[in-house]
Amino acid sequence: MKETASDFIAKSSEKADDRDHRQKINFNIGRYNAVVPVGKKQFDNIDFVREKAKNLKWKAIASLDSQLEEFEAAITNRGAKVIWAETAEQAREEILKICHEKNCHSLVKSKSMVTEEIKLNDFLKEHNITSVETDLGEYIQQLDDEPPYHIVTPAMHKSKEDVAKLFSEKLGTEPTLTPEQLTLVARQILREKYLEAEIGITGANFIIADAGAIAVTENEGNARLSCAWPKTHIVVVGIEKVIPSLTDLALFWPLLATYGTGQTITVYNTIVTGPKQPGETDGPEEMYVILLDNGRTNILANEKARESLYCIRCGACLNACPVYKNIGGHAYSTPYSGPIGSVITPHLKDMNEWKHLSYASSLCGNCTEVCAVKINLHELLLENRRESVDEGDASFAERTGWKMWKRAMLNRRTMNMGSSKMKSWVVNNFLKSWKKHHGNIEFPKKSFNQMWREKYGNR
Ligand code: SF4
Repeated sequence: MKETASDFIAKSSEKADDRDHRQKINFNIGRYNAVVPVGKKQFDNIDFVREKAKNLKWKAIASLDSQLEEFEAAITNRGAKVIWAETAEQAREEILKICHEKNCHSLVKSKSMVTEEIKLNDFLKEHNITSVETDLGEYIQQLDDEPPYHIVTPAMHKSKEDVAKLFSEKLGTEPTLTPEQLTLVARQILREKYLEAEIGITGANFIIADAGAIAVTENEGNARLSCAWPKTHIVVVGIEKVIPSLTDLALFWPLLATYGTGQTITVYNTIVTGPKQPGETDGPEEMYVILLDNGRTNILANEKARESLYCIRCGACLNACPVYKNIGGHAYSTPYSGPIGSVITPHLKDMNEWKHLSYASSLCGNCTEVCAVKINLHELLLENRRESVDEGDASFAERTGWKMWKRAMLNRRTMNMGSSKMKSWVVNNFLKSWKKHHGNIEFPKKSFNQMWREKYGNR
């Protein structure tokens, strides 16, 4: 077994046994579940909206090259610089180059899963550049030296008491502070960081092709400040985030808000079309947009998996997944967890190393049911499994086991062989890893076939 797979099993087994963890997750997901139906009321026909969003993403991804070039031409016209990064390493090096040019020692960063993907903070730290997370959830995670737990709510696994204790340990505040007081403490510290920062880094929720702009959605105003306050703004964004037109935001913004947090619209929605223009008083003097591939074109080239590029990272599939709710976000050891993470990670990284995530699913289909853009997630998980078998990633023992199972299941005689007691003994003694977490399997005394024959004879 690969180290990534054994690490996943070890971490998920530990979390599945952790009642305190489950209670916190269920509490927070319960709150999410209570508000999403309220947000959905703003749409007359939610299924139609999801279908339309899926079609728009299909259009964007099917013509990704020309959409991105259209974006590049328009934003470059207004003075931004577009950098194409094929790998995480290239993206990091380009950011470092800009930091050196600007003599940057400290930067502010808003929430961005892509920067988690390229491990930007660790890299900057190695080069003596302080990168401060300004989203409250991300700031909490950074203080605790932990990666984000969830793609929308990074500190979802922490209670308000956990956060108060963390602030007290790291910042010396009273351990009894309320969430409002804790927010004010973070706000005060972070405002200072903005004043010191030479560069602001953000992600982007959408790349708008026709307008040559990026759209950022957030609830705290920190991303807007990161875009506008420092003299240099760097955007790091995956190439799949493109949408064809500015007018498409009328659909994607409310959709993302509802499926992400149950809001009708997120508090701050910003469209950035470039650096400060002549005659303007506000905004950064320079703006760079790093368009990151890092495995996305592998997904694009894969006819079946391509659909996963439609994802708008609302996080709904994580909240609906019975596996995620039990093992939590950190067990996956990738920035993208839950069903969508299990679909894309093997393609973004390495199928053989990460195929185990595609098996971390009950295939109940709940993820597909709730997906904002109707991605057939559970079918894509099955596709990954098929692909990994086709690539020869299954072990000899696994292949032989399934071959024997198939042969036995296709033959009535072999199925009828042996008593129920013997069948129970064989299964319970050979499925040792299954039995670690389950009780014994007891075959019924009579099989369906026997009962049928007793009732109707051999017809
Ligand atoms: S796959 Fe669908 S539900 Fe999951 S994060 Fe992406 S858009 Fe949301």
